Amino acid sequence: MRPLNECLVLVTPSRTAALAAPRRRQEIRNVPWPPAWGQKLQKDRAISSAAGLESAGPISSRGSASIVVAGMVSARDVRGLLARVRWFNLAILTITPAVAVYGAYTTRLRLETLIWSVTYYVISMLGITAGYHRLWSHRSYNASRPLQYLLCLMGASAVQGSVYWWARGHRSHHRYTDTPLDPYNANRGLLYTHIGWMLVKPTVKPGPADISDLKKDAVVQWQHRWYFAIIPVVGYALPAVVAGLGWGDWRGGWYYAGMWRITFVHHSTFCINSIAHYLGDSPFDDRKTARDHFLSALLTMGEGYHNFHHQFPMDYRNAIKWYQFDPTKWFIAACGALGLASHLRVFPENEIRKGALAMQLKKLKKVQDGIRWPVQMDDLPVVSWDKFKKESEERVLVIVSGFIHDVGGFLDEHPGGRALLLGQRGKDATAAFCGGVYEHGNAAYNLLSMMRVGVLHGGVEHVKAITPGERLRIVERLN
Ligand SMILES: [Zn+2]
Ligand SMILES: [Zn+2]
Repeated sequence: MRPLNECLVLVTPSRTAALAAPRRRQEIRNVPWPPAWGQKLQKDRAISSAAGLESAGPISSRGSASIVVAGMVSARDVRGLLARVRWFNLAILTITPAVAVYGAYTTRLRLETLIWSVTYYVISMLGITAGYHRLWSHRSYNASRPLQYLLCLMGASAVQGSVYWWARGHRSHHRYTDTPLDPYNANRGLLYTHIGWMLVKPTVKPGPADISDLKKDAVVQWQHRWYFAIIPVVGYALPAVVAGLGWGDWRGGWYYAGMWRITFVHHSTFCINSIAHYLGDSPFDDRKTARDHFLSALLTMGEGYHNFHHQFPMDYRNAIKWYQFDPTKWFIAACGALGLASHLRVFPENEIRKGALAMQLKKLKKVQDGIRWPVQMDDLPVVSWDKFKKESEERVLVIVSGFIHDVGGFLDEHPGGRALLLGQRGKDATAAFCGGVYEHGNAAYNLLSMMRVGVLHGGVEHVKAITPGERLRIVERLN
């Protein structure tokens, strides 16, 4: 998910006037996104290295500048870094928690304010997860007009940019996951995907994504046009006003339901870009970094089943099992039950199961590859009956199901005793093995097959080549 970015870019002094004036809407729409993407790559790399924000190496083959030599950072590097810092983002992401900490030291947290803060946190998070993400980024359900406006306001209270900007970046993330065109490319490290990409302008412009529907969406455009008028109200004023008018705790409302909530909402959302691409399993596809994990689901109102989400992004659910934590799904389902949402999209169950099975088979294949298997029939010498009889005088050979086995090393371990095996030496013991003397189980079949040394020419009977252990063997098909 890509929070906070664009609004922060747009609020730079040169754009403030445009944002404040609705009549200049077209201008705002035409602002390159973000405006300063196209910086020189060499310079960017050096700056990123100096900032310690990019854990991975260069992401493009263009140039190979390394201005930082032996730990020395030149004045030019510092100037370059300062030119790339997103100062507004930096201010929001540092001042907000700093004010919150100050509030914690100076203002007592009342129970009513705590309950209100947690409630408003959930409201803000749902605005992002159910609104910005699942409704507008992925169109995973249809929302009624009142619900759309409500989600716009709820999402704005998270102070993460307008729907329009947010969904645009998120669509690039899905389309170009783990590539340099992904605005929060997981290959650049946890710090970068969590917060670094918002603090320093990136080197490569995010890949294009179709946003024609968002351009035509009246509610999305309304929120985008009025975004900077809406956030002071729902992001900052409302939490304090509710606590102030409700139980006289204006300061608590400001610090806890305001600053602390925004800080928590920011970092909870950032976790979707960072730990949801780092921590957990890949039950549906392991070619990308998106992962499923309960912890990230807990932190993100259910968005932590991210491996599923990247495979089936138009599904309104992220968690498909009843016991998995996905309150965003529950919220959307509740809206559906109340008639506020419709056309809740789910991916065909058959395809979901197919994806899950493919990954389970892949894991089992690894187990299978770690096991020794019997020599296959085509790789064994074909031996005549006479030769078999002659060889049996030298070695303890027995035939079972057309295969010749050297059981000499097993004589003392045979549960039925040494004498029983020696009694079958130089003979076809198929009948004895299959119930004539004792009906052996699968384990005995599997073990016996490991003693194969040849195949009897002309076969006394039909050769049973597949042992019980091989019946469900996984074979990888490349074409
Ligand atoms: Zn992702
Ligand atoms: Zn998504």
